Amino acid sequence: MSAREALLRELRAVIADPRVLDAIGRVPREHFVSGGDRRSAYANRALPIACGQTISQPLVVGRMCELLELRDTDRVLEVGTGSGYHAAVLAQLARHVWTIETHAELSRSAAAALGIAGIENVTLLVGDGSAGLPDEAPFDAICVTAAAPPDALPPLEAQLAPGGRLVAPVAGDGAERLVRSRLASSGVVRDELEPVRFVPLVRPG
Ligand code: SAH
Repeated sequence: MSAREALLRELRAVIADPRVLDAIGRVPREHFVSGGDRRSAYANRALPIACGQTISQPLVVGRMCELLELRDTDRVLEVGTGSGYHAAVLAQLARHVWTIETHAELSRSAAAALGIAGIENVTLLVGDGSAGLPDEAPFDAICVTAAAPPDALPPLEAQLAPGGRLVAPVAGDGAERLVRSRLASSGVVRDELEPVRFVPLVRPG
């Protein structure tokens, strides 16, 4: 069994949505990890990338995609491009992905990796994603891939379309938890889910 098949088998035990599993199966993660980590590209763990950041664990990428309940007509915003891997998986499941990263160097290498992988429905932007992307709002889904304080959610939730979903790791007392918000007709409804670990969301002072 290839490392890629072994990873999918491991993920199948936790992720039920076959579209998400297919999407992960289609994205060549080896292009998104650092050169020295190519051999571990299909290990189910986060790995270091440039600028002191990390490429997320495939299981967490899959879980977040599943929680976003993406349809192929969806417009998606990702905050925290990092390696570009999560954006690549989102791009398999949605019509278009806008992804914002503070580090220009990471955005450039993510663009290169997406190009090598032949993924064309991702727009990369450099800047602070905590303000969302008002010019392209509203979004059907927003995926935050850096640990956010609770007060970072409302400005992003304000950029959801009716029925839109947001998933974010939210920092609490020492631990972070995945939070899913949905813009229902009665307003934003939040669910607090499992604990996770992410690098912090950095907001300009
Ligand atoms: N989705 C990434 C995970 C990267 S880690 C992947 O699949 O590889 C989170 C990323 O969020 C880091 O690259 C970090 O630089 C970025 N980040 C942190 N604060 C940010 C902010 N305010 N706006 C945009 N990006 C931010």
